Amino acid sequence: MAKVGFIGLGNMGMPMAQNLLKAAHAVTGFDLNVDATERLAASGGSTANSIADACKAAEVVITMLPAGEQVREVYLGAGGVLATVEPETLLIDCSTIDVATAREVAQAARDKALAMVDAPVSGGVAGAEAASLTFMVGGDDAAFERARPLLETMGKTIVHAGGPGNGQAAKICNNMILGASMIVVSEAFLLAEKLGLEAQKLFDISSKSSGQCWSMTSYCPVPGLVPTSPANRDYKAGFTAAMMLKDLKLAQAAARATRATTPLGAGAAAVYERFIESGDSSVDFSGIIRYLRGD
Ligand code: NAD
Repeated sequence: MAKVGFIGLGNMGMPMAQNLLKAAHAVTGFDLNVDATERLAASGGSTANSIADACKAAEVVITMLPAGEQVREVYLGAGGVLATVEPETLLIDCSTIDVATAREVAQAARDKALAMVDAPVSGGVAGAEAASLTFMVGGDDAAFERARPLLETMGKTIVHAGGPGNGQAAKICNNMILGASMIVVSEAFLLAEKLGLEAQKLFDISSKSSGQCWSMTSYCPVPGLVPTSPANRDYKAGFTAAMMLKDLKLAQAAARATRATTPLGAGAAAVYERFIESGDSSVDFSGIIRYLRGD
């Protein structure tokens, strides 16, 4: 059993922390939203009223925050994680953030001789609830091995992606593939419709052919073809269009910084940006098909 300080009890962080509690770890939670900490207490955890309070006596600190700005503030700010943890505490940031901030925070932790990994996730709220997340982990071997048992409590697939920041690198590359593939799968179904080809026929053929991909076979944007699709429940998220745009923008910032050529990634970011400007950013990202159809 580990003593865990958990900071950021939102849509993802709460079920992750609850899975740690189910596995008999002692979890002390902190969130700016007091309701969230109270809900954790109702699940058997303890509440903290500051970052320092959550870090006090923690053997492991896990963060699940919106973006790089909050991660920087929570780790590096006055009264933040690095200023308040015990010397042997392991730090695990599961938020999706930019690679540069992840590496900067990891370096600041190293400067204090603290072990840290970046461990962003794939699998969404359903994966967090079912403890079936995929963790993409950046950090040295020793920190990864220390983090692994806890990550296995919250997820099914744990991959060591390399040194600090490489978990974030894997996450944004993966989601660049996902965003672009969701657009092109949607375009293909819309083109098929114009050509008089039934959606079911295209699905039966492409799901078994070279056009096969996760956006088609697990998360098809057309209703009625795949039981798990948000399309079947009026595109209720799931993974919101706003979150997809956030990750596509992170990928574009990384591409600019490294001079990588990513025309489809750039196009996907632009399409999601227009989609969000035109409507509801809280809809599932597969709802992009409605924007492309002009609904
Ligand atoms: P969320 O907005 O529901 O939760 C974030 C929580 O952090 C909120 O409860 C907020 O109050 C808290 N918070 C913000 N600043 C804080 C601070 N300074 N101190 C303490 N608490 C603070 O977001 P989420 O959906 O849980 O996502 C968290 C991260 O996981 C994001 O980086 C997101 O990109 C990533 N992610 C989300 C999903 C998903 O499907 N929701 C999937 C994969 C990855």
